Amino acid sequence: MADIKKVGIIGAGQMGAGIAQVCAVAGFDVALNDISEERIDHGLATVSGNLARLVERKQIDEAAVQTALKHVSRAADYDAFADCDLVIEAATESEPVKHSIFHKLSPSLKPGAMLATNTSSISITRLAAATDRPEQFIGIHFMNPVPRMQLVELIRGIATDDATFNAAKKLIAALGKSAIVSEDFPAFIVNRILLPMINEAIYTLYEGVGSVDAIDTALRLGANHPMGPLQLADFIGLDTVLSIMQVLHEGLADSKYRPCPLLVKYVEAGWLGRKTQRGFYDYRSGTPVPTR
Ligand code: NAD
Repeated sequence: MADIKKVGIIGAGQMGAGIAQVCAVAGFDVALNDISEERIDHGLATVSGNLARLVERKQIDEAAVQTALKHVSRAADYDAFADCDLVIEAATESEPVKHSIFHKLSPSLKPGAMLATNTSSISITRLAAATDRPEQFIGIHFMNPVPRMQLVELIRGIATDDATFNAAKKLIAALGKSAIVSEDFPAFIVNRILLPMINEAIYTLYEGVGSVDAIDTALRLGANHPMGPLQLADFIGLDTVLSIMQVLHEGLADSKYRPCPLLVKYVEAGWLGRKTQRGFYDYRSGTPVPTR
């Protein structure tokens, strides 16, 4: 495995944009793809907006921002990934979507290029099987928000070779982050523990035990969590929360992971949290207002 110089990123949402930002700041060339020019623009605007805020807070200087932005290019299609050493998939948390991406992407990659997924929950081994290179495939699971969170989970599929694993470890170190290793089981480590807690908070709301405000205040002040679980659910994205619970429920075949019907209802309404301005809170006025 040659050194990684150029990283392709598929999905320019909150995670893809965050990954693009940290890679560019660390000096990697980045090519960012999404389903439309608009979505790519949105991702690029997130990157420059975040970097501008870091300048305001004096955490980075303007020259470093300009250098970082020069590293980022748009990838309107997969041909733009032909010279990438690594492509990280950070598209919507849906197995059919990810399968289709890997299936179409594989022929555009150079031999030896590494492939990674930022999935929160889906089997790395199954996703690897949708590619032409399961040996060079790995789970690199960044946390949200990527620029601020220290941890990255590394997950090997059954076929992942040592060169790929070591290259991924080296990349994480170059980004200034800390890696832990998880076995390839549904939702890995962080989300195996975190998401049932969030789902339980939604059941607590559903059963009328407490209001949105009471539940979030309870966990902030009573358990010293920096964010309440419903606030955190909105931050993650309720579609992603539901998808992870479904993977846990199906993958571990245990009723304790049953997604709360109220979560399903919010997703069906298109109230996906911060990214759509409404979830357990309504963000449209600028001040979050509980929706229940
Ligand atoms: P998001 O909804 O903010 O962004 C997803 C992006 O993927 C969207 O811009 C969408 O247009 C794009 N997309 C969908 N289909 C695509 C395709 N075929 N090709 C290219 N782009 C496509 O979601 P997100 O929060 O950024 O999550 C992305 C991935 O990262 C998911 O797998 C999720 O589980 C994982 N993840 C999310 C979090 C979190 O807290 N939200 C944390 C860690 C990992």
